[in-house]
Amino acid sequence: MPNPSTQPKQVISDKYRSRYDDDLSIVTASLDRGLSGTSDVVSEYEAALGRYFSSSNAIAISSGGAAISVALEAAGVKPGDEVVLTPTCPLCTVYPIMAAGAKPVFVDTRVDGFGADPADLDRVLSPKTRAIIDIPMWGYPTQVDELQKIARKVGVPLILDLAHSHGSTLHGRPLSAYGDLSCFSTHERKPLATGEGGFILTDNNDLAKRCRDYSRFGNLNGRDFGLNFKLGALAAALGTSRLQHLDRQLEARRKNAERFLSKLSHPSVRESTLIPGGKTNYYFLTLRTSFANNRRFIDYLDENGVPSDIKRYGCKCLYEFPAVAQYRRNCPNGERLLNTMTTIPVHPALTEKDMDYMAGLINAYREG
Ligand SMILES: *Cc1c(COP(=O)(O)O)cnc(C)c1O
Repeated sequence: MPNPSTQPKQVISDKYRSRYDDDLSIVTASLDRGLSGTSDVVSEYEAALGRYFSSSNAIAISSGGAAISVALEAAGVKPGDEVVLTPTCPLCTVYPIMAAGAKPVFVDTRVDGFGADPADLDRVLSPKTRAIIDIPMWGYPTQVDELQKIARKVGVPLILDLAHSHGSTLHGRPLSAYGDLSCFSTHERKPLATGEGGFILTDNNDLAKRCRDYSRFGNLNGRDFGLNFKLGALAAALGTSRLQHLDRQLEARRKNAERFLSKLSHPSVRESTLIPGGKTNYYFLTLRTSFANNRRFIDYLDENGVPSDIKRYGCKCLYEFPAVAQYRRNCPNGERLLNTMTTIPVHPALTEKDMDYMAGLINAYREG
C-alpha cells in the first residue's frame, strides 16, 4: 500500500469549461446571419484562424477526426496506400486512415518524446507510403522541423495532428508551420473549444482547395467527388470568440505549470522533456516517472482526487487495441513512454492551492 497522503483530500477536475463574456454576444449576432457552413460567419472564423496561426489557408471542418479524413483525401491517400504514424496517439487518428481503406504503418517514437523516430521512419517508408502523420501529445512539441525535411526529401506530405497543440511552438513558429496539412480539433476538451469542431491549416493553396472542395461535397458540381464535413456557423462564432482569449488561457496554464513544478521534488518524477526551441501550450503537463509500477502511482493519484489521461483513456500503443491489432508493429520506445508517464491538469480553472496539493501528493508518494 502506498502511504496515504497527509493532506486533506481534494478532487481536481481535468475538465475545463471555458466561458467568456463575448461568447453569447458573438453567437447571438450570428443568429441574424447565415447558419450553414457556407456562411460569412464561418469565413470570418477561418480568416481569424489564419491570422492567429500565421497560415495562408484555414478550412473549418466539422470535427478533428473529419479534418484528418479530409487531409488524407487531399494528400491523395487511396485504398491500399500506406500511411505512417506513431502508435502513441488516440484511436481518433488511426480510424480515419482505416476508413480511407489505407494501411496504418506504425513508426516508433523517439526514446524521450512522442515524435516519430527518424531511424525507424527510414525502416518503414516504402514506395506505397502516401503520407506521414506526426502527433505531438498533450501539447509538447515534437521535432517537426526534422520530419518536414525528411518528408520533403522522400516527396510525401507531412500531416500534423495538432488536436492537443493549439499555441505550441517550435523555434518561435506555430507547429502547423512545419506541416503540409495541420489538423486541429476544437472538441470541448481541447484548448480551443467549440463543442464539436475542427480545422485544417496549410500554406499550400492547391492542398487548401482540395480540402475545401472535398469537405463541401465537391461543391456539388457533379464532377468532383466530396462529402459534407463543413463546420456550422454557431460553432464558428463560438470559435471566433474563444480564439481571442486563447493566449490568456495559455498564459494561465503556464503559470499553473510553473507553480506545480516549483513545488515538485520527488526524485522519481520529472517533467517530460521539452525539445530545444520548443514551447508547450500546457494542454496537460506531462510527467516522466521511474517507478517499478507506474500504474500503482497513477491509481494513488486517482484515489486522491487527481485524474490521469492515461487511466481515463486506457492509453496504450494503438496496435494493442483489438480494432487495430492486425496492424501490429512493436514500438518499444512508444510503449515505454506510455508506461512511464502521467498527465497533470493545469487548466485556468485550477488554483495555486490545487497545484500545491498535486505536487504535495506526489512528493509524499513512496513505492510500496
Ligand atoms: C480529440 C482528438 C482527435 C479527434 O478530434 P475530434 O474533434 O474529437 O474528432 C484527433 N486526434 C487527437 C490527437 C485528439 O486528441
